Amino acid sequence: MKHLTPSPINLISAEADRMKKSGIHVFNFSAGDPILNNHPTILEAAKQALKEAISPYAPVAGLIELRSLASEWMNRRYQTKYAVSETIVTCGGKFGLYSALQILLEPGDEVLIAAPYWVSYPEMIRLASGVPCPIKTTEREHWKLTPESLKSHLTKKSKVLLLNNACNPTGALYSKDELAKLLHVASEANLTVISDEVYSELVFEGHSFVSCSSFPQHRSRTIVIESCSKNFAMAGWRVGFAFGPAEMISNMIALQSQSTTGTALISQKAAIGALLHADTVSSYVRQAMQRSRKLFFDTWNRLFSTNVTPAPSALYFFTKIQEEDSVAFCKQLLDSSHVALVPGIGFGMEKHVRFAFTDQEDELLKGLEALKKNTKQPYF
Ligand code: PLP
Repeated sequence: MKHLTPSPINLISAEADRMKKSGIHVFNFSAGDPILNNHPTILEAAKQALKEAISPYAPVAGLIELRSLASEWMNRRYQTKYAVSETIVTCGGKFGLYSALQILLEPGDEVLIAAPYWVSYPEMIRLASGVPCPIKTTEREHWKLTPESLKSHLTKKSKVLLLNNACNPTGALYSKDELAKLLHVASEANLTVISDEVYSELVFEGHSFVSCSSFPQHRSRTIVIESCSKNFAMAGWRVGFAFGPAEMISNMIALQSQSTTGTALISQKAAIGALLHADTVSSYVRQAMQRSRKLFFDTWNRLFSTNVTPAPSALYFFTKIQEEDSVAFCKQLLDSSHVALVPGIGFGMEKHVRFAFTDQEDELLKGLEALKKNTKQPYF
């Protein structure tokens, strides 16, 4: 039997759920998806689908209407020219990432990732027989890769740059100039770029998002991963997309045909509902998350007498703790304060934890107060 490491986020969420089921109120700062009702346009589309046939298999690559709406969504936002043949619907962004790595990597190929990284990257890379190569980033450099740091980690085995913009857990957001420089280094080194952009619409206050797809000169070596989970608050529906050169996408379709057979038909219909009104739905999610973000950081700064500035994007606060062992710290906090956080070690960085500000405002407020009340020593 292979021994795989499950996502630490799911482990903490599972423990928090277990406590909840036994009647304990848990403050959930661990969930990485907006805790919001689905926008009515999504529910209407799903209800309509229930009246139609939803039992047959959907086309493996996704419904043509959905692929077409998804590519239009990209083309409209980034002035790209993705065709339907360059678009696949996947079971969440996660399966898009997984299958892109599966089709690209040969045993021993190295994949460069910025650390702290999203928890699933290393294991996904290993599952594709690759070798994860974390590149340490620092808070001082706003947790971003630089052309120099990327160059210094290149070897003969470097094959893929897996870039997460906007970033989970740090909220790092790359400018057009920064991306241009990184993509230039990647192209000189003949790397394929997988750009994980699942938080593209969750960029706040005066910041703007630049996609790796908006560099036509790098198009032939770039796969962009998108998702409905965060941008449209549809995590449970499991709908994501990948965009890239037709040859790579058709390989991903072949992989999908031999594994998941694609995404559930009703979920695809719901995603059509979202994409038909993409700007309305993403702005509904963004505004709700913007309010939660403000409340979280205002409350944090008031309770802990700090002056923390939120990151420009995504749904998180990644912060230092005094303790060495982030797992022990999170377990202890869950037991003592009923506050669920994610340990930094899951993101490749000890002595840190991640808060998500995705829950209802009242819950965030009470959760931070519970944290403050039970905090006998300065943790942060
Ligand atoms: N990429 C990043 C950076 C994420 O944070 C997540 C989910 O938390 C995913 C991809 C996968 O999301 P999904 O499969 O729900 O689209």
